[in-house]
Amino acid sequence: MTNQRKKCPHCGSTSTLPIAYGLISDEGHKKNNESREWVWGGCKYGQNGTDHCNECGENFGEKIDYTPKNPIDPEKLLDGLDKLTYHLEPENRIPKLYSEAITEANGDEEEAERIYESMLIQLFIK
Ligand SMILES: [Zn+2]
Repeated sequence: MTNQRKKCPHCGSTSTLPIAYGLISDEGHKKNNESREWVWGGCKYGQNGTDHCNECGENFGEKIDYTPKNPIDPEKLLDGLDKLTYHLEPENRIPKLYSEAITEANGDEEEAERIYESMLIQLFIK
């Protein structure tokens, strides 16, 4: 078992434990307090690395970065809003989408406009 454990990059000790993540039951924690097979890293998977060193107390291994990789590009959003506003005008409606909305609304024009608008949002914003 010991030789399967990873070596700490900070102090070189092989007295390390894997880090467990997620919701773990009280019973799970109690059991582990006796057997010490892992250390708990929190609920967010991977935020503290993959392993913990018993010797120096450092965590190591690959961390998962929760910073969103593709934040909404404000220019794209503005562009999307422009298109949305444009195509909301009755004379600029996209015929295919609007007829789908009419069908879905069973001919109710007010309802169709709401559906059409949400279709445009799907199309240009999301
Ligand atoms: Zn260490």
